Amino acid sequence: MEKIIIIKYGELTTKKDNINLFINNLDKNIKFKLKDLDVSTNYDKGRLFIKLKKDNFDKVINNLKEVFGIHEIIIGYELNTTNINEVKNKVLELIKNKEFKTFKVETKRSNKNIEKTSLEISSEIGSYILKNIQNIKVDVINPNLLIHLEFRNTKSYIYFESIKGLGGYPVSTLGKGLLMLSGGIDSPVAGFMGIKRGIKLEALYFESPPHTSLEAKNKVISLSKLLAKYNNDIKLHIINFTDIQEAIYKNIPHEYLITIMRRMMYRIAEIIASNRNAKVIINGESIGQVASQTLSSMKAINETIKMPVIRPLACFDKLEIIEIAKKINTYETSILPFEDCCTIFVPKHPVINPKIGLCREYEELIQYKDLIYQAIKNHEIINITSEESNEYENIL
Ligand code: ATP
Ligand code: MG
Repeated sequence: MEKIIIIKYGELTTKKDNINLFINNLDKNIKFKLKDLDVSTNYDKGRLFIKLKKDNFDKVINNLKEVFGIHEIIIGYELNTTNINEVKNKVLELIKNKEFKTFKVETKRSNKNIEKTSLEISSEIGSYILKNIQNIKVDVINPNLLIHLEFRNTKSYIYFESIKGLGGYPVSTLGKGLLMLSGGIDSPVAGFMGIKRGIKLEALYFESPPHTSLEAKNKVISLSKLLAKYNNDIKLHIINFTDIQEAIYKNIPHEYLITIMRRMMYRIAEIIASNRNAKVIINGESIGQVASQTLSSMKAINETIKMPVIRPLACFDKLEIIEIAKKINTYETSILPFEDCCTIFVPKHPVINPKIGLCREYEELIQYKDLIYQAIKNHEIINITSEESNEYENIL
C-alpha cells in the first residue's frame, strides 16, 4: 500500500474534444510547480496520480493549491490489487486508530470486470468494519468518517478527505493574454481571474520617471512575482510613458488628459500584445469606478483598438475586489503608497462623457504615432519567476 496524491479536475472532464490538451497542460503545470520536489505523475481516466519519493506531502500540497485546473487534492492509498478481501483489510488497518462514531463507505468502480456493484462492495466492506470495530454505526447522511474506495483496472484506492483546489482551467490552455498591470489593487486581481480561465499572462506596466518612482516600479515587479505563482512565470513589459504623458499634459485640454492617456495606453497594449502573440488584453477596469471607467469613457477609450479587452472586474464592487486581493495575497503590496502614472497629472474635473470626435482632434496636437513608436522601441522586458531566489525578492 503506497501513500499518494490523487488529483481530481472536475470541470475539465466536460471538455470532450480538447480533453488531451487540458490534461497535458495540467500535467505540465503540476510538474513545473513540483519540479524541485521529487515527484512523478501519471494519468488514468479522469484522475492524475502523483507519487512522492520523499515524505514531503505538506510542501507538495501547498504548491498544488496554487495550480489552476485542480478541483480536489486527495491524499490516498494505492493498492496493487482489486481484490475486495485485500482492500477490506487495508481499510481496517487504516481506520483502526481513527476516532469516529459513525461512518459510510462510498465506492466507485471503473473496472466493470468486478462482478459486484459499487453498492454491494460498500455494504460488504461496511459490514466487515462493523464486525471488527466496536461501538460504531453506519450513517449515510452525515458520517464522522467517509471512506472512499475506487476500483480501477489493476489498482484500487482508499481515501478519506479531500482538499479543495483552485478550480478553473490549467494556465496556457486558452492561449496568451496581456495584462495591463498597475500597482493598484484591481489589476492583479483581474490578472488572477484571467489565469483562472486558462490564460497565460504577460504583463505590461507604464511608468513615467521621474514623475513615478523606482519604488512604484518595484511594487509592480513584486505584484508580478505574486501572480507568477499561478502563471508559472511571467514576462513583464515596461513602457516608459513619460514623453507621451508630458506631451499630452502640455498640449491637450486637461479635462481630456486621462481619456487621451488611456487611449495611448490601449494602443501600445495592442501592439505589444500582437507582437507577443497574445489574443486579448486584460485590465482591472470596473464600471463607474472612476471618470475613465464610465460607459462613455470606456467606449471612447476602447474604440482605438480592435483586440478584445477582457475586464474580469467590470461588475465587481471595490469591496469584493479587495476581498479577493487579500485572499491571493496581493493586497498588502498593492496598498503601498507609491504614485503611478495614472495618479500623477490628474485633472480637477476629468470628463465623464468624452466625445470621440474631440479625442481624435486633440490627439492630432501631438505626434502620438512617433511617440508610441519610440516608447515601444525602447521598452524593457523582465522575466519574473516566483522562485524564492528571485533577484527581485528583497527590493521592497
Ligand atoms: P488598479 O485598478 O489596479 O487598482 P488604479 O485604480 O490605479 O489601479 P485605474 O486608474 O483604475 O488604475 O486604471 C484601470 C486599469 O488600467 C488598471 O486596473 C490597469 O489594468 C490599467 N492601468 C492603469 N494604470 C496603469 C499603468 N500604469 N500600467 C499598466 N496598466 C495600468
Ligand atoms: Mg482601478
